[in-house]
Amino acid sequence: QAKEQGRNNVQLFHPDMLDAVRERSRITAELRSAVAGGELALRYQPVVELASGRVIGIEALLRWHHPVRGIIMPDSFIRIAEETGLILELGRWVLHEGVAQMGRWSETAPDLTDFRLHINLSAAELLRSDLLDDIRETLDRHHVAPRRLVLEITETVLMSRGTAEEQVFSGLRDMGVGLQIDDFGTGYSSISYLRSLPADTVKVDQSLIQDMGSDPQQLKFIAAILQLISSAGLRAIVEGIETAEQAIQLQAMGCLYGQGYYYSYPLPPSQVPDRLRSLAQRR
Ligand code: C2E
Ligand code: MG
Ligand code: MG
Ligand code: MG
Repeated sequence: QAKEQGRNNVQLFHPDMLDAVRERSRITAELRSAVAGGELALRYQPVVELASGRVIGIEALLRWHHPVRGIIMPDSFIRIAEETGLILELGRWVLHEGVAQMGRWSETAPDLTDFRLHINLSAAELLRSDLLDDIRETLDRHHVAPRRLVLEITETVLMSRGTAEEQVFSGLRDMGVGLQIDDFGTGYSSISYLRSLPADTVKVDQSLIQDMGSDPQQLKFIAAILQLISSAGLRAIVEGIETAEQAIQLQAMGCLYGQGYYYSYPLPPSQVPDRLRSLAQRR
């Protein structure tokens, strides 16, 4: 905006900016008490083996039940939480709650223990000094095997990784906890980096499949990306599948795993066991 006013008229502050600053500090203050106040909740979205409907994973997605403003989606507060450092506390809560929920499902639905819990991790969380210990103790406490946990991180985090991150990755590998690249295709992916990934799965971003149906060129492009991922020895999951048509096209090009509203919206934990069973019976 300041730019539009012309080069010599440098306007450093606009009234809208003051509103934005106030809004941010209000959100920060409220978010700080949200954890202790029990205002956070997790929704769970299945990751499906397309051919069988078998659920191989469940992604935990954070929601904020604000006492006045209702449910607030993560895109409205994760960024601020990252900038203020509050993400460390939120992430700790997500880990504890998600793993505790895995323990509860094992008791209430002992037939369903064949899926992994996916948790989203921000860059700063990887450098949390007690991350590995916290993960190990939390898994222990709830009798959840380390191989049943997967951490989702974005490719931007990976590309700028240093020795500290490398240590965390190898610690996770030693423990048996999985690592996944999220939103693949939105950052600055290079082909060479795919081969050196410390990850076991790659989640292809939903933006890549959005206009797939109408564009044969895009279909070829996605097929090539899937090929690339599997030739690097990694498992590909495509996210954002919303229609039967997309599911069929993806399967036809050899895509094995997917996630999206077509299979399930993110669900409250009580609805997960039934959804897992019905997805597996769908075909
Ligand atoms: P993400 O990890 O890439 O998660 C996928 C997002 O796409 C989720 O949005 C999910 O609800 C949505 N989605 C799933 N299927 C479909 C579909 O078929 N169509 C469309 N249009 N969208 C679909 P959500 O829950 O709003 O989360 C947004 C982002 O917030 C996540 O993106 C993740 O980056 C971040 N996030 C969520 N929970 C956490 C958390 O506990 N910790 C951290 N650090 N980040 C989180
Ligand atoms: Mg994710
Ligand atoms: Mg994603
Ligand atoms: Mg995303």
